[in-house]
Amino acid sequence: MSDPVLTLDRVSRDYVRAGRRLAAVDEVDLVVHRGKTLGIVGESGCGKSTLARLALHLVPPSSGRVLREGQDIARLDAGALRRLRARMQIVFQDPNASLNPRWRVGAIIAEPLRAQGWSRQKRLDRVSEVLDLVGLPQDAVDRLPSAFSGGQKQRIGIARALAPEPDLLICDEAVSALDASIQAQILNLLTDLQARLGLTMVFISHNLAVVRHVSQRVAVMYLGRIVELASEADLFDRPQHPYTRTLIAAVPEPGRPLQAGSVRGEPPDALAPPSGCHFHPRCPLAQNICRRISPPLIEAASGHLASCHFPGASAS
Ligand code: SF4
Ligand code: MG
Repeated sequence: MSDPVLTLDRVSRDYVRAGRRLAAVDEVDLVVHRGKTLGIVGESGCGKSTLARLALHLVPPSSGRVLREGQDIARLDAGALRRLRARMQIVFQDPNASLNPRWRVGAIIAEPLRAQGWSRQKRLDRVSEVLDLVGLPQDAVDRLPSAFSGGQKQRIGIARALAPEPDLLICDEAVSALDASIQAQILNLLTDLQARLGLTMVFISHNLAVVRHVSQRVAVMYLGRIVELASEADLFDRPQHPYTRTLIAAVPEPGRPLQAGSVRGEPPDALAPPSGCHFHPRCPLAQNICRRISPPLIEAASGHLASCHFPGASAS
């Protein structure tokens, strides 16, 4: 396997809400290898975005370590951290909210370069390069975001993320606000850019079909924990965890997003997580042991991790 670009080592992130501890991310172990895409899938509120913020060091972990190329990010000095930040960029869900409507596209894309101290000429050259990379015309530099369609705006967001030459790109619901046909174009652009630039990607979405399209490995999150982690083929063809099987069964056809409420029952209250296996109130296979003992994330099949007392069991 190629070398690890990003490693989460027993990472947790707690928040206090109404005087109670909420574990948004709960003892997560993950490795993202160079040039590969790790997909992270789960319902809204499962901790996916907090995981992205931890990976980018926008929030520190409450416990555990976030490692970049084997180095603990928390131990870097200010200069090393500033250089590292340029090498990890994020593409957000809503380009309307993430692009300043009063700035011209050239200034938007060059902004991270200005922050890194690039000269004016280098900034202009790089903006021109990344416009080509994302398939936007050169005259975009002088126009405002409002002149562009939703898909083109997301290309601007991707161009801005690529400008400082990152090796790690985190996409948080990056196509979720787009129409299905535009989603496919942006997903193809991302996989093409990955191949051309050797990018490492973390692709976060509630939509299984889009995660499947871009990822080599996929992690399924439930209430702050990874409940299943496998290659894309193993996860979708041989899911081991009842939650994953429910998610897959809930997708009626390729490209159709996972709808809220497609898993029976409500997602549990993260402030009062269920005892034992967090999924037990919604699990068709739950037994007494599930209510008492939290199942560890262990190898259920070769290279295929699942946290379930009865991995691979079928409800029928
Ligand atoms: Fe269902 Fe029990 Fe497995 Fe949890 S441990 S997913 S409740 S069978
Ligand atoms: Mg989110």
